[in-house]
Amino acid sequence: MQIVQQVLFVAALGITAWLMTRRINIIKKTIQLGKADNRSDRPNERLGTMLRVAFGQKKMFDRPVVGILHFLIYAGFLLINIEVLEIVLDGVFGTHRLFAPLLGGFYPVLINFFEFLAVAVLLACVVFLTRRNVTKVQRLQAADHRELRGFPVLDANRILVIEIVLMFAILSMNAADSLLQERGAAHYEPVGSFFFSGFLKPLFAGLSDSALVLVERVAWWAHILGIFAFAVYVTYSKHLHIFLAFPNTYFANLTPKGEMPNMPEITKEVKIMLGMEQPAADAPTEIGRFGAKDVTDLSWKNLMDAYSCTECGRCTSACPANLTGKSLSPRKIMMDTRDRLEDVGRNMLANGGEFKDDGKALLGDYITEEDILACTTCNACVQECPVLISPLDIIVQLRRYKIMDEAQAPASWNMMFNNLETNQAPWKFSPSDRFNWANDANK
Ligand code: SF4
Ligand code: SF4
Repeated sequence: MQIVQQVLFVAALGITAWLMTRRINIIKKTIQLGKADNRSDRPNERLGTMLRVAFGQKKMFDRPVVGILHFLIYAGFLLINIEVLEIVLDGVFGTHRLFAPLLGGFYPVLINFFEFLAVAVLLACVVFLTRRNVTKVQRLQAADHRELRGFPVLDANRILVIEIVLMFAILSMNAADSLLQERGAAHYEPVGSFFFSGFLKPLFAGLSDSALVLVERVAWWAHILGIFAFAVYVTYSKHLHIFLAFPNTYFANLTPKGEMPNMPEITKEVKIMLGMEQPAADAPTEIGRFGAKDVTDLSWKNLMDAYSCTECGRCTSACPANLTGKSLSPRKIMMDTRDRLEDVGRNMLANGGEFKDDGKALLGDYITEEDILACTTCNACVQECPVLISPLDIIVQLRRYKIMDEAQAPASWNMMFNNLETNQAPWKFSPSDRFNWANDANK
């Protein structure tokens, strides 16, 4: 019987590893479709940013109560993995509580600490479910935000419920295990008492030894298979940020937020026009696309941003365009970019790893012209984001494509562009009249 369990366990572990590797490779390949963007400068500053924002969750604490609850779930996720390591080794080698003899008296301390985290995670998940579904925090409501309709709402609730079930499974497993230890059952050596799961013991106290073993085994399998399923599911979910928040904050933009990156191809053209630079002899006759029309025109960092988005909506709730009733939602910009990337990933999978043109594009089929033109480039979304994503960067690139490549700016903008060209200012006054306001200053 034991060997059957070991074989089943190794098979489940192998299938999980295969599914995860396959999915991670697709995500990696789709991110690599993005254009080059060198983010290897200032490594110490980058490391500090990552430690503060991803590891220390600094921006989450802007809202302290939510920050603490989120930190408990995050700490629980990281630290309970130590117990998962023991469960995996027990599953492979057919042992039971492998670390107990190695850690001696420290073992029950560790298990009690994990149980505390399990209870904290469970309670935090209940609070988050309540915020979403009972007290209805506005930025998380599908009724108010079209980008959340369907899978995103289901995904958010599903993950919270899975975490509650997983934590309950740990506590049930320990409660049944503890009772078996007290009864001196075979294979259940005494390893010390467990505090939090002790509250569940009365539920199982009336069961026979064999029924208790069944409860312990079912909870053990439910917990570990749940974790395996969770690990695969996360790669399809917004919860991918659990992993990607770290590289995403490391490679975040370190330039001041108001600094708009120039387009090198335009800068070069202008310099050549002004005689500041000579065209290279081997310069290509055709300049490539200006801005971005599809995900393949964006940088790899823009694409990693899309996979890292937590769908928290802090950006949208701070966006002045959204607040004044425009359809623009920076969260939707990130979710649309990820949806397009997912379509591209499926396309690659169906075509032997190569992306075949499907006649669609990010701009037009996913993100509308109306949305990108509504942006005031205020940077509020960038400022709010807890994982240092820049929806604005994508918006600006899509807008550059629309205006420079397709020459389709709104009429009022064209007037401003003409003024900039002829008057070197956005207004229709001649440069020679610029100081007229001071004419009477000395009278
Ligand atoms: S930069 Fe644009 S998208 Fe971001 S908050 Fe400001 S208006 Fe909204
Ligand atoms: S872009 Fe950032 S702030 Fe906006 S929903 Fe995604 S994670 Fe939240």
